Amino acid sequence: METTLILLKPDTIERSLIGQVIARLEAKGLKITGLKMMQLDDAIIEEHYDFLMDKPFFPNIKKYMTRTPIVAIAAKGANAIATVRMLTGATNPVEALPGSIRGDLALSIDANIIHASDTSENAEIELNRFFKGTDIFTYNKLTDEVL
Ligand code: GDP
Repeated sequence: METTLILLKPDTIERSLIGQVIARLEAKGLKITGLKMMQLDDAIIEEHYDFLMDKPFFPNIKKYMTRTPIVAIAAKGANAIATVRMLTGATNPVEALPGSIRGDLALSIDANIIHASDTSENAEIELNRFFKGTDIFTYNKLTDEVL
């Protein structure tokens, strides 16, 4: 089983789409093991998106990501990392397939609804960045045996 880190970005909160996105994760069979609303600051964004620091759009990312609180989610399941990336869709919503979260709900690369870890190494780093160990829960669901 893998656990991946998901962030619902400010446009999700502003457009009242939190429930819709979480419903898609749950419907897929992922188990929500951590969930919290957080106000990010520049420091955590500089850490999270350090590979984009030299890009001309980086100041816009900082402005966007601090505009409202975000919702951080830890989601667990078989192949959770690749599965959630598939559900998320391409970075640029114009290329994201219909049926994906960005394909169905986003219009612009500047505000593309969701972040999801892309590798197991990054998932571990990102889960530690947004959750303390005690904020991630272990519990049983009736569906555990079929998923
Ligand atoms: P992701 O893993 O699909 O979110 O994509 P990346 O990790 O490459 O980029 C992180 C975030 O930076 C993306 O989700 C976009 O919001 C933003 N971003 C990436 N590339 C661009 C770009 O070319 N232009 C703009 N305006 N934003 C970008």
